[in-house]
Amino acid sequence: MNIIHISAECYPIAKVGGLADVVGALPKYQNALGLKSSVIMPFYDKKFTADNTFVSVYKSQVLLNEVVRDFEVLILKENSLDFDVFFINVPSLLFKDYVYSFDDTDRFLAFQIAALDWILTLDEKPNIFHCHDHHTGLVPFMLQESFKYKSLNNIPVITTIHNAQYQGGFGYDKLGFIPEFDLKNAGLLDWNNQINPLAAAIKCAWRVTTVSPSYMEELKLEANGLQDLLKAESQKCVGILNGIDAAVWNPEKDEYLISNFLEKNVNLGRGKNKKWLCETFNLDTSKPLFAFIGRLVYEKGSDLLPEVFQTILKEENCSILLLGSGNKEVEEQLKALKEEHKGNYDAFIGYDEKLSHIIYGGADFLLMPSRVEPCGLNQMYSLRYGTIPIVRSTGGLKDTVIDIANENGFGICHDEVTVAEIEHAIQRGITLYKDQDKFKKTRKYIMKIDHSWDASASEYIELYKSIN
Ligand code: ADP
Repeated sequence: MNIIHISAECYPIAKVGGLADVVGALPKYQNALGLKSSVIMPFYDKKFTADNTFVSVYKSQVLLNEVVRDFEVLILKENSLDFDVFFINVPSLLFKDYVYSFDDTDRFLAFQIAALDWILTLDEKPNIFHCHDHHTGLVPFMLQESFKYKSLNNIPVITTIHNAQYQGGFGYDKLGFIPEFDLKNAGLLDWNNQINPLAAAIKCAWRVTTVSPSYMEELKLEANGLQDLLKAESQKCVGILNGIDAAVWNPEKDEYLISNFLEKNVNLGRGKNKKWLCETFNLDTSKPLFAFIGRLVYEKGSDLLPEVFQTILKEENCSILLLGSGNKEVEEQLKALKEEHKGNYDAFIGYDEKLSHIIYGGADFLLMPSRVEPCGLNQMYSLRYGTIPIVRSTGGLKDTVIDIANENGFGICHDEVTVAEIEHAIQRGITLYKDQDKFKKTRKYIMKIDHSWDASASEYIELYKSIN
């Protein structure tokens, strides 16, 4: 079975968040299970592009709003990834040093149209299109409705919603950008008097998946306006938990770590990573180290962190390290705490892949006070590396973390996203840390929990088979 994933992100080529990790891992696992799985993505002007050589395999032109633009399809000259990647370049729109910005509508429209134009020319057509998020949300619509893609419209198409907060809506002034279709069916594009690519995908895809079962249920209640649509389409919707790439996220081999480790030498290995973190950020190694990694946005609960940190650092004996960027006001508040809590707190505002790995390998606890968490990968990485997750029970966090007070529990969970509940959860972490026996046993236990893609990759295969 030949699967084509269509995505804006793919690790290690271009990563903004979890979407990249999923699209960089799932095809690899699918190939290992005997499928032929590949990725189509935009060609960005990123480090990966500069570090690699590409070969052009197709050249043509794409029509976007009556403007003809050159485009080309490229592949890697030497591909060390475990799956094929086809890069779509529309130089005037896609070859940028960013993935997302103000001009996303035009860029991703051009990407989707060029990708389908190219697929039309292939002798061997895919058996399944697997689209990811709203950036590729018009693919199911165009396959079903656009006259020029008629020969592709018997190929099943799946859309995976990684985050329903973002829907890519745009005005009807750009209706003419979409390859010609019967205007009687324009309603399929519509949600609240806008063209809404995510809504169009939910309506037109053969199956819709979300990245965890709990998130699927939550979306039927609240999906940034699309809840009624998801309820109405629920017979074709299913939640499949993301996995992690156990080859990339492997504490025994991870080249980013200061010290590699296995369960048997976890205390020593993690100790060295923690020491490096503490030396680098001027923190005390003897105190429990709490960390946060992620986008500083409302869904992640990051707006409450400055107040939580201020209180906890005044009252408790612990250290806190944050890695993230996003909301400028929150960034400023987090920076402002540095002076007052020197020696117990630091924040690295920015994106740093290496540092994130060392934090998973050296911090004692990872905070995820998310309001919305479709799946969440951070908690799965932290489990694999032996960092105890402190999470708000929602979405994928609810599906992957059991509170330590329960049978077979290993993490710390809270129900509400309030300053008081997050503080209480951190206090529970401090209490656990004081009981070093229990703390270390828990650490070893969580490292054995298997969240690799093995299980979920098979669930996707079953889904593909059910519609092929
Ligand atoms: P989301 O996709 O909503 O941002 P996920 O938990 O699904 O959240 O995935 C987040 C991914 O991005 C993880 O791999 C995490 O380690 C990484 N990440 C997030 N922020 C940063 C950062 N500032 N520096 C390095 N890695 C980050």
